[in-house]
Amino acid sequence: MEKERIIIEVPSGALHVEHAACPRGHSLMDPVLPINGYPSIKVVLQYGDVRGHVHLDPVYGSFHNIFEVDIPEGVVVEMYCPTCRTALKLDEHHCDFCHSPMFALYLPNGGMLEGCLKSGCHRHKLKLVDIDAQISRLHGDDHIQLLM
Ligand SMILES: [Zn+2]
Ligand SMILES: [Zn+2]
Repeated sequence: MEKERIIIEVPSGALHVEHAACPRGHSLMDPVLPINGYPSIKVVLQYGDVRGHVHLDPVYGSFHNIFEVDIPEGVVVEMYCPTCRTALKLDEHHCDFCHSPMFALYLPNGGMLEGCLKSGCHRHKLKLVDIDAQISRLHGDDHIQLLM
């Protein structure tokens, strides 16, 4: 059966990412440094010679990110898996807001969370596959952490 990839609109704060991984399947979740009460998403950020960790807010639509490095506003950064250093950048996708490259976090069941690599641009898209099976879990639950 062919699976369709769709984009759904999710209200800010309605869900958080619980299982994000790099393209090779390494978990990016960091329970040591929670944000908004949930394990943060830890990635390596690089801009020019500056390289360090950033902890991304796992709550969709919330951006209380914790930077270990100083990244100027408005620059496009590179993002890597802290375990295998694979780039998280998507070559074929660009932000529909500022046309910068996007990064992707891989979610269970073929889902993806895409975000803009330009610092300060808060464009995020949630892409889910096999939507019928996943949407049925959405009903009656503000936090669809089972899904993520
Ligand atoms: Zn990895
Ligand atoms: Zn953007």
